[in-house]
Amino acid sequence: MTNHLANALGLGDPARGGRTFASLPDGRVYTYADVEAVSGRFAAALVGLGVAPGDRVAVQVEKSIEALMLYLGCVRAGAVFLPLNTAYTASEVGYFLGDAAPALVVVDPSKAEALTPQAKEAGARLETMGVWAADGGDYGSLFAHVPEAAAFEDVARGPDDLAAILYTSGTTGRSKGAMLSHENLGSNATTLVETWRFTGDDVLIHALPIYHTHGLFVASNVTLVSGAALIWMEKFDLDAVVAALPEATAMMGVPTFYTRLLGDDRLNRELCRSMRLFVAGSAPLLAETHRQFEARTGHAILERYGMTEASMITSNPYDGARRAGTVGHPLPGVSLKVTDPETGAELAEGAIGMIRVKGPNVFQGYWRMPEKTAEELSADGWFITGDLGMIDDQGYVVIVGRGKDLIISGGFNVYPKEVEGEIDRLPGVIESAVIGVPHPDFGEGVVAVVVPEAGDARDPKAVIGALAERVAKFKQPKRVIFVDALPRNAMGKVQKKNLREIHKDLFTG
Ligand code: AMP
Repeated sequence: MTNHLANALGLGDPARGGRTFASLPDGRVYTYADVEAVSGRFAAALVGLGVAPGDRVAVQVEKSIEALMLYLGCVRAGAVFLPLNTAYTASEVGYFLGDAAPALVVVDPSKAEALTPQAKEAGARLETMGVWAADGGDYGSLFAHVPEAAAFEDVARGPDDLAAILYTSGTTGRSKGAMLSHENLGSNATTLVETWRFTGDDVLIHALPIYHTHGLFVASNVTLVSGAALIWMEKFDLDAVVAALPEATAMMGVPTFYTRLLGDDRLNRELCRSMRLFVAGSAPLLAETHRQFEARTGHAILERYGMTEASMITSNPYDGARRAGTVGHPLPGVSLKVTDPETGAELAEGAIGMIRVKGPNVFQGYWRMPEKTAEELSADGWFITGDLGMIDDQGYVVIVGRGKDLIISGGFNVYPKEVEGEIDRLPGVIESAVIGVPHPDFGEGVVAVVVPEAGDARDPKAVIGALAERVAKFKQPKRVIFVDALPRNAMGKVQKKNLREIHKDLFTG
């Protein structure tokens, strides 16, 4: 047996050796031979530090190419990579360490002091890893264990062995560790390469974080499988992306990347002349953004849908209509059905219900949470995504929102996305978020949080009045609140939980 995921990613393929894997912001060029050598050295370091196959390696470090090599080193050493959002506080990290019981924790040097007690409590060894900089800096203690040169023989792992645990962002309750196998990750990357036609000639802009499935698996694994090259950025920086576009062929982004690009006059057809593909996901792309982007650049953004537990699930077509407001069709090998949330029975085309998915992409369950796993992942492999949606008359999947964001007002279901769509169409509105908060008569009252254009009149009555003829009375917001911006996380998701918390006493207080 060989290492299943390392093979799927094309690691160890000598033919690629001198080709560029990544151009870095400081001018360094990382070749495929470097990927091979450095990931092998990290793998050797892990084994040297006593990390055994199946052991978890928890990593909370700033984005760097070395951090990506540490991920590959984990795969090659047969360990389970566990990336943590850099925004998590020491006490949050403490929960993850206690839950995951890793053998090794790798953190940014600036966090070592705060996290040492947490690591100790979890019985894990702690090492630090900084970001390499030409003018020096603290690269951390891990490097002392990395051998100068090492030919590493990959630890054998089969398709069902775990490659990673990613904690879900946890919109309600405790965050859960989604266990992803070698086959989950390998099959999804291979499918995406075919679906999106990646080849060794592609140059992909990588400005996403690498603690999340989008930047870590979708962008990085697709590049590795296809032998393409990355333009590597530590974060999304508008000037850097504008400078990179003429050198690139593809970009994967969250919707905010696209709205920020649209806000810049330099974005036009000429700037995007070498591009062949813009992909968006992780949060809904406004139909308006899709239209504006196509008008400015000639490119229809390809929107896809995925999640931590199932990697990528659906995609708009590469050839054929990329329809704004939809996430396209299930990927090859993936089955998707819309079901009655209560009974689980499959619903007819056009009906809104709970999305369930099945396929080689679907995770192995939640780490040490057998009851939660049993609730959401059936014995025959169907996973309850928690997303509400429907399949339209052309077979395109439309996501209506998270089931937890569904509002039940006076016994009627209100799908926030429908009301948001109507509000967003009003002149002077940039975007909106519709939430439900406790209401003495209705159970939940509909509240619209609206971002107006600068200088626009902030008149709640005008918004409510304009909706009066467009949506049924029970869907109309009872309150409209104007804000300068919606709260979003790094993946561009609107934090509705925060909004509900802020406005929880609106009708009852
Ligand atoms: P995460 O596990 O953090 O990747 O979040 C996954 C969730 O993001 C999904 O369950 C959806 O609710 C949402 N999501 C991802 N992609 C899209 C999309 N293209 N449109 C709407 N929601 C999306």
